[in-house]
Amino acid sequence: MTTLTRADWEQRARDLTIEGRAFISGEYTDAVSGETFDCLSPVDGRLLGKVASCDAADAQRAVENARAVFNSGVWSRLAPSKRKATMIRFASLLKQHVEELALLETLDMGKPISDSLNIDVPGAAQALSWSGEAIDKLYDEVASTPHDQLGLVTREPVGVVGAIVPWNFPLLMACWKLGPALSTGNSVVLKPSEKSPLTAIRIAALAVEAGIPKGVLNVLPGYGHTVGKALALHMDVDTLVFTGSTKIAKQLMIYSGESNMKRIWLEAGGKSPNIVFADAPDLQAAAEAAASAIAFNQGEVCTAGSRLLVERSIKDTFLPLVIEALKGWKPGNPLDPATNVGALVDTQQMNTVLSYIEAGHSDGAKLVAGGKRILEETGGTYVEPTIFDGVSNAMKIAQEEIFGPVLSVIAFDTAEEAIQIANDTPYGLAAAVWTRDISKAHLTAKALRAGSVWVNQYDGGDMTAPFGGFKQSGNGRDKSLHAFDKYTELKSTWIKL
Ligand code: NAD
Repeated sequence: MTTLTRADWEQRARDLTIEGRAFISGEYTDAVSGETFDCLSPVDGRLLGKVASCDAADAQRAVENARAVFNSGVWSRLAPSKRKATMIRFASLLKQHVEELALLETLDMGKPISDSLNIDVPGAAQALSWSGEAIDKLYDEVASTPHDQLGLVTREPVGVVGAIVPWNFPLLMACWKLGPALSTGNSVVLKPSEKSPLTAIRIAALAVEAGIPKGVLNVLPGYGHTVGKALALHMDVDTLVFTGSTKIAKQLMIYSGESNMKRIWLEAGGKSPNIVFADAPDLQAAAEAAASAIAFNQGEVCTAGSRLLVERSIKDTFLPLVIEALKGWKPGNPLDPATNVGALVDTQQMNTVLSYIEAGHSDGAKLVAGGKRILEETGGTYVEPTIFDGVSNAMKIAQEEIFGPVLSVIAFDTAEEAIQIANDTPYGLAAAVWTRDISKAHLTAKALRAGSVWVNQYDGGDMTAPFGGFKQSGNGRDKSLHAFDKYTELKSTWIKL
């Protein structure tokens, strides 16, 4: 438990050395082109450092190295118990560097330091160790064959994995991929978002320090349309795992078809409904969860509870509770340990969020909380947590993923209507139901087209349960042993006895 104050964090921020180079074959290296881009902090707009702007030439180098080390077997054929030990060392190095990594994450992305410290870095370390711990406890299969045949069903690493991740939980999303990808013996080329590349770059060196052979984990910072596209089109990348928007996810499917039909696993966007029935067991708890579901991580959460569906008979009592609860979520300097809402990731994202607030007004929704940019004098990108009442599900703010702290409140009269509204978006990532009626809870949960459904809570889950989406929220699952399916191929071997 750290006792660092805001002044301590600010001092550390001034003293911090920023590594912005790519990491290929165990060494930090400039982009082949020598190009860099500016890495700005959303906390106050300051320049954190220059970051290598990788492109197709760097992707070529990284994939060649990743392939060579994969073929050598030094990691891919290492005994699972040894890979396990190495992954656990990698995880413990993240924990040893928790303050440094948390500071990098907060400066780069704008999230509160308390969250980086207590959620992002520990969660990332756990994703690595959980997968590592599992890998020597998995068994392959012997098929039910005729007497004179032996049929072995085995899993093999796919080879070279390209991993493209977003900026909202930069380290955590990367480690949800790295845990199972590395534990199963693959080589990885990781492309962090250009908006938040710093922690991915930093942990590459920690991987080598942990004993992961050079070349097994490579990190290529840069833009999506340059290095991201090059990785996705590369003929020698076997599998591409992605977390990000639905728009780019669709593009990656095209790149796969245009190149080598690499396996594509997509964790994409969401517009999750949070359904509160009149018989919710605890309206105060539901209101606090609704506020947290839209304000946590500045609303930049794929599973943000961005549509609050409230049974009409309780709306007039419930909505004031939500408005009150949201007052506890106040944007402030992310380096202050008391801050629970930080800055939006950059000016572009802030302007996107503000334009959705504008759309809410012009479509006739009623603003009942927030609605403005604040703390502009800091040079940072802060927007008040915002609530629109009187939203119809057809409005732009109810249909599109805003990826900011903007909540749409939609009234309903019956369970059937709630389910119809809940399912009426292109997305299907998550949903929540609040009711004390166990049958209604189960029946509603079954009817919701979503990868995760929470009952009488919002945002539960840990490494033991799969996470991912229905519909245009993606395919495949992160976390749990199901994630291993993405990183392995099944082989059937028939032996005549
Ligand atoms: P994004 O799709 O814009 O970018 C994601 C990554 O793709 C970035 O690294 C980006 O550089 C790269 N990219 C962009 N264009 C590319 C191209 N043409 N080829 C290859 N790569 C390209 O998403 P974002 O704005 O970084 O992240 C926010 C999105 O992520 C939201 O939609 C959110 O819901 C989603 N998300 C989903 C989950 C999940 O588990 N389902 C988790 C977190 C975030």
